[in-house]
Amino acid sequence: MHYTGYLTESLAELQRPEGLLHLAGSDFANGWGGFIDGAIESGLDAARAVSTALQAPAAGPELAATPSLPAS
Ligand SMILES: Cc1cc2nc3c(=O)[nH]c(=O)nc-3n(C[C@H](O)[C@H](O)[C@H](O)COP(=O)(O)OP(=O)(O)OC[C@H]3O[C@@H](n4cnc5c(N)ncnc54)[C@H](O)[C@@H]3O)c2cc1C
Repeated sequence: MHYTGYLTESLAELQRPEGLLHLAGSDFANGWGGFIDGAIESGLDAARAVSTALQAPAAGPELAATPSLPAS
């Protein structure tokens, strides 16, 4: 169980990527947090966000500075 205020005060910040780091999991879901449905939702959201970031034509300095990323 999450503490009071988790959804209204903390969730949006926890969902915000930090550079190339995207968090996913049941605790980061908008709906069905703590359930498998929330884990799937969060995983799909994170995968889409990473895919979008990797396909962005104008990669930011963080992407450009990452040597292990394949050339697009
Ligand atoms: C007893 C029990 C019964 C449940 N019953 C239901 C149910 O009936 N219906 C339902 O919808 N939900 C149920 N849940 C909740 C559901 O299992 C979870 O919400 C869901 O599994 C969360 O998925 P997740 O991917 O966020 O995290 P997890 O399933 O916990 O996956 C996290 C993974 O990360 C791995 N990991 C952790 N640290 C590291 C590390 N440092 N490096 C690499 N890997 C790491 C872990 O080994 C784990 O495999 C139940 C949970 C429990 C405990």
